[in-house]
Amino acid sequence: MAATVDCPTCGRKVSFTPASRWRPFCSARCKTIDLGAWASETYRIAGDVRDDAASSDESDAGAGSHRDPGRSRAR
Ligand SMILES: [Zn+2]
Repeated sequence: MAATVDCPTCGRKVSFTPASRWRPFCSARCKTIDLGAWASETYRIAGDVRDDAASSDESDAGAGSHRDPGRSRAR
């Protein structure tokens, strides 16, 4: 009696056995899609944070942008 799980990407039933190499996903494609969704979400959150910091730096004063070139040269 094999247990089955729903593929997180497409919802298809997947046998949860060593034979199902991509479990809990039904295939490598679904696994890649899920990982891709994760990656893009992470990037979007990171981008938002950077965007927020940049805009607050700008509204701070001209001093913020004056300090910026030196910081990027040090890296
Ligand atoms: Zn699937």
